[in-house]
Amino acid sequence: MAELKPIYNSEITCPVCEKIIRISKVRSKFIKLIKQDDDYCPHYETINPIYYEAWVCNHCGYAAHNTVFDQITRYERQAVHEKISKRWTSRSFSGERNWEQALEAFKLVLYNLQVREAQYSQLAKICLRIAWLYRYEGIIEEDINYSKFAFDFYKKAYTNEDLRDNLLDEYTLMYIVGVLANRIGLKDEAMRWFSRLISISSNPKERDKIPAGLLDNTRDQIYTIRTEMKEEGNKE
Ligand SMILES: [Zn+2]
Repeated sequence: MAELKPIYNSEITCPVCEKIIRISKVRSKFIKLIKQDDDYCPHYETINPIYYEAWVCNHCGYAAHNTVFDQITRYERQAVHEKISKRWTSRSFSGERNWEQALEAFKLVLYNLQVREAQYSQLAKICLRIAWLYRYEGIIEEDINYSKFAFDFYKKAYTNEDLRDNLLDEYTLMYIVGVLANRIGLKDEAMRWFSRLISISSNPKERDKIPAGLLDNTRDQIYTIRTEMKEEGNKE
């Protein structure tokens, strides 16, 4: 019997150029989560499925996150065609990916989103993943840089976007904004987001809608930041 490989390919149609493309996925039995950071960055034992979340069409340069690959409007398709496809040199992103290829694929997704003038929440999600990729390699400066972009975009998403159709609920979004604020050194700002979330939860109607575990995590964050602030205050 042939040995089962962790990566397998499947074929889909590109929603921009309508050609058949080959995308690669990780078999779930090879995915072993070790831990997760406070901003939900997952760490895996060997194969990292995050590397494969950015799908790229080798024919036209269209790239998007695997969860929303088909979701593109006619206007956006036109924009990708005009600004990306015309200058695209064909290269393949299928098969096993190393870190550099994963990063390149995600940067292409980000570029596509900018060209499409996509929603802030989409931009935020991709910037956060790029931050994670840098974190995996210990490149802290770029991790912080992209965490800052994600923080700004998530904040804009919170004020400007209708989150009802979004996979991310507004409470988790508030929590992530708080966590990112803390990661980029804005402790007061982080505290404001966490406190807002706790005060919302005092309303029983809202409380029921808050995902399980989120309030405990929020309280942990508040406790940690308060302790750090106290220690910093004592040093002065
Ligand atoms: Zn295409």
